[in-house]
Amino acid sequence: MDLLEYQGKQLFARHGLRVSNGKAVTTVEDAVATADEVGYPVVVKAQVLIGGRGKAGGVKLAADEAEARKHATNILGMDIHGHTVRTLWIEHASDIATEYYASVLLDRSAKAPLIMFSVEGGVDIEEVAENTPEKLIRHHVDSLQGLSRAEAVKIATDGKADADVIEGVADALVALYEVWLEEDATLAEINPLIVTPEREVKALDSKVSLDDNALYRHPENQELADKENEDPIERRAKEQGVQYVKLDGDIGILGNGAGLVMSTLDVVAQAGGKPANFLDAGGGSDAAKIKQAVELILANDAVKAVLFNIFGGITRCDEVAKGLIAAFDEIKPSVPFVVRLDGTNDVAGRELLQEAALGNVHAARTMNEAAEKVVALAKEQS
Ligand code: GDP
Ligand code: MN
Repeated sequence: MDLLEYQGKQLFARHGLRVSNGKAVTTVEDAVATADEVGYPVVVKAQVLIGGRGKAGGVKLAADEAEARKHATNILGMDIHGHTVRTLWIEHASDIATEYYASVLLDRSAKAPLIMFSVEGGVDIEEVAENTPEKLIRHHVDSLQGLSRAEAVKIATDGKADADVIEGVADALVALYEVWLEEDATLAEINPLIVTPEREVKALDSKVSLDDNALYRHPENQELADKENEDPIERRAKEQGVQYVKLDGDIGILGNGAGLVMSTLDVVAQAGGKPANFLDAGGGSDAAKIKQAVELILANDAVKAVLFNIFGGITRCDEVAKGLIAAFDEIKPSVPFVVRLDGTNDVAGRELLQEAALGNVHAARTMNEAAEKVVALAKEQS
């Protein structure tokens, strides 16, 4: 589960990391009231589960009430890489002398926690890793010993943090490691970790992912799930136990098994189409589950054509065909479907579909043929 910036900062604060005082709001009026309260200048920040908000215009400084109102009005409702801004975080703006970077994550190949630190903060850390790898300190922690203060001081020193803030950076690293460990996070990142002109070390941003499987140990974190910002169709899918990810194209895709779905996305993209979703019906899908999946796909208005790509193993193609027939009976979709059934009971499945003579359903024998057909049909619709 990914946390919004302000939720991550609240966890940071609980573990002694310095953050600015602020408030999450959902209306322009509350944004302005909060700005008045925390004192100008303030920073108005879009709360969405995606990075690069600053570059996209979702982070703005405001010197007075009029500016706060203007920025809040512009940013609320803004689309940032497909995420609609519904919440703003307003905090008292910090003066920045320097921007650093710090993160903790689990390095699976090393079977150990990895702390990364760089004095090149505020920018895309992948670029630092690529262009100036010597400026990115990578330190593995012995998970039984934990991170000692001496180790944290060494990381800050090796990373060439300014001499007068070595202690402050070490404190921040120890606190960040504590967040990662005690909150069962899979990632805890601060970019930028700033040094103010008063030489205070502070987290200006946060990126925290919590391990869903450990959430039961943190009842206080369970309510952080971002219900409001979650796509309503994704939420419904989750409740029904279906793997569904919304994408921004117009071709609905259903397959069984994540690998098959991913290759279907690729093949559709190669044929010049844009997938509207990723939907994995899973192994052993029965007719009822297929019907649910069709409903989920069609709940997205952007869908102009649907590709069913089923490779029968445990899933039986005749069951899939029955599900599709039942779904058409009830939902009467207005968009065309291309169906490719292969594997267990495929002949029976294709026969069922043929007998049912559903309007607007096209059979395809291969994945490439299916992809080309569905792309052509989607283009016809638009
Ligand atoms: P991101 O673009 O999603 O990573 O959002 P950040 O929270 O990291 O903000 C982007 C950039 O805005 C930062 O790197 C800072 O340069 C700037 N910024 C954010 N908050 C403040 C602030 O309080 N004061 C100043 N001067 N700049 C800020
Ligand atoms: Mn950032």
